[in-house]
Amino acid sequence: MVDSKLCIGCGACASICPVNAIKLVNGKAQINKDKCIRCGACQQFCPVSAIDINKEEPKEEKENSKNDKK
Ligand code: SF4
Ligand code: SF4
Repeated sequence: MVDSKLCIGCGACASICPVNAIKLVNGKAQINKDKCIRCGACQQFCPVSAIDINKEEPKEEKENSKNDKK
């Protein structure tokens, strides 16, 4: 969600986030996905467009689709 190559660590996203889901780690923003409500504020406020909240790590497998087929 945060492109660490683009992030300049300005902290704007962290201060705008309504649920405090963002913290700076080693000068780079990190989003806590469990807290994030996807409001999009950080994405709008990032001066270097380092955040894309729609871009998730490819990890959206449905785990509970284990229907007993057979
Ligand atoms: S999308 Fe909203 S809730 Fe999620 S990290 Fe950005 S500002 Fe915070
Ligand atoms: S607003 Fe953008 S550049 Fe600033 S800390 Fe957040 S992700 Fe990094």
